Amino acid sequence: MRKVSRSLPAPEGLGNEVIGVPEGSAVQLDLRLEAVVEGVLVTGTATGGLAGECVRCLEPLERKLDAEFQELYYPEGTDRHAVAEDEEGEEASRLEGDLFDLEPVLRDAVVLALPLQPVCQEDCLGLCSECGARLTDDPDHHHDAVDPRWAALQELSAPSFEAGSNDSGTQQGAAENQEK
Ligand SMILES: [Zn+2]
Ligand SMILES: [Zn+2]
Repeated sequence: MRKVSRSLPAPEGLGNEVIGVPEGSAVQLDLRLEAVVEGVLVTGTATGGLAGECVRCLEPLERKLDAEFQELYYPEGTDRHAVAEDEEGEEASRLEGDLFDLEPVLRDAVVLALPLQPVCQEDCLGLCSECGARLTDDPDHHHDAVDPRWAALQELSAPSFEAGSNDSGTQQGAAENQEK
């Protein structure tokens, strides 16, 4: 068994739309390479920094990446039964020299380790739907303007209001007529 530690710059697009490892930032890989009958078993962790934004208020936030992965590498061009004990070290070092192969594995592991709905704080109140103000900064924030959903209800009741005023208008007219 062999242990390898490396710090590599993060490749592009290591993450999702909301949060991820900034391209070029250091990702620390701690790997354990184990020769097994089938090939080389790589068990490792990737740690580093995540940058993203709160899904509720869009405030920038930072998290720590701690991803674990395991992958079995089959030696190329060799009959797997031919991997003799004395070749174990050679296999491992060949793999070690070509850590680029780890990228797809790393990518999958990182995506799995990302927080699904990162929030700046558990009780983040999000943004005001009307003006976009961050409600956590200003919990009393409100608008006097009527909520559009209530405004729609008011419109529904408006015609009967008008009908009422029309009625009184007619009555007034009738009263005027009676005076004449
Ligand atoms: Zn937030
Ligand atoms: Zn507002």
